[in-house]
Amino acid sequence: MKIAENISLKPYHTFGIEVKARYLAELTDRKELPGFLSSLGKDHKPLLFIGGGSNLLFTRDFQGTVVRIMTRGITVKKENPGEVFLAAEAGEPWDDVVKFAVGRNWGGLENMSLIPGNAGTAPVQNIGAYGAELKDVLWSLDVFDLGTLESHTLLNSECGFGYRESIFKQAKGKFLILGVTLKLSKKPVLKLDYGQIREELEHSGVSDPTLSEVREAVIRIRTRKLPDPSVHGNAGSFFKNPVVSGELLDQIRFEHPEVVFYPFGDQFKIAAAWLIEQCGWKGRRQGDAGVYPNQPLVLVNYGSASGKEILDLASQIRNAVFEKFGIALESEVNIF
Ligand code: FAD
Ligand code: NAP
Repeated sequence: MKIAENISLKPYHTFGIEVKARYLAELTDRKELPGFLSSLGKDHKPLLFIGGGSNLLFTRDFQGTVVRIMTRGITVKKENPGEVFLAAEAGEPWDDVVKFAVGRNWGGLENMSLIPGNAGTAPVQNIGAYGAELKDVLWSLDVFDLGTLESHTLLNSECGFGYRESIFKQAKGKFLILGVTLKLSKKPVLKLDYGQIREELEHSGVSDPTLSEVREAVIRIRTRKLPDPSVHGNAGSFFKNPVVSGELLDQIRFEHPEVVFYPFGDQFKIAAAWLIEQCGWKGRRQGDAGVYPNQPLVLVNYGSASGKEILDLASQIRNAVFEKFGIALESEVNIF
């Protein structure tokens, strides 16, 4: 593997912040990993493995080695009359995997269409959209333990999946995910009653949708609502939707009967976008750092914002939401 020195990271992450890595390497074959790691000198550390860079905010230059995961390949591992076990290398773009499955009428991924990033990163925050989560379809994954330098396979139950959470997000830098195996259905059951999917299908005159029609509907909704990172830098939802007790929700409902919330186990999930809008931040801009008008959960780099400016905006929003509602928003984006 070649190592380049003093490289701009701007093309490699979707916030489009101008920062540099002291070293940059690209992994295209998982077999090269042990040799690469043992060849590194002290000044190459720390290491940061990245995929599509769509869930990152760099606030400063990275003083070690950034490794882009670029391993590719989608293969059917095994199948039976009802299911197919589809394996994807970590560097495979997630949406290519979704497209591959939907094209063969294998169900389970369609609601997660057009989520940016790589297949190997999808388990890190247990990606989810429109009522579907990675944990619903993940069978197992191959990991490289960066402590012991050994590879092994983890089953779904060993990944500690929660709402936008996993052991990989909690213990950053312990495991590198090399590939995922997904269990998909040959007799798909569609999930249409989340967000605007059903409305979108009805609007286009579709009453009995195929998987492809669901995928297309999701792509249309997302394209309308979310900023395209190639136009306006962003990393999707900056904050997680907070999960609160029934008591706190009742207090909020007393003053704001219109609060947007959903049951979440024995607690309640409040739409963070609603909280941010109530605090007057929707559409606001400070220099080139802004809050996206169509979806205030997304912070945007309108041009040449620095990571610190985005972080400062996030911190003002967090303070405002805490003061008004007593809720501490947590970042979903990984900050470096
Ligand atoms: P990166 O940003 O490259 O990395 C994220 C983190 O994972 C970093 O800490 C990195 O070190 C670590 N990492 C990367 N690769 C590996 C690996 N192979 N093994 C272990 N750790 C690794 N997310 C959702 O859940 N749902 C959505 O609907 C959604 N919509 C989005 C829309 C937009 C417009 C954008 C910009 C983002 C959106 N996201 C969404 C967030 C993001 O796309 C996902 O979290 C995605 O899985 C990140 O993948 P990535 O390869 O870009 O990760
Ligand atoms: P939306 O449809 O406007 O809904 C707002 C929030 O309400 C969402 O965050 C969603 O929570 C929740 N919600 C909506 N319908 C629900 C239901 N039936 N049951 C439980 N919760 C419900 O959201 P949006 O911003 O347009 O996003 C649509 C989907 O794409 C969401 O699932 C969202 O998570 C996902 N998305 C994620 C990111 C990211 O970066 N993480 C970026 C863009 C979109 P959930 O978020 O828990 O689903």
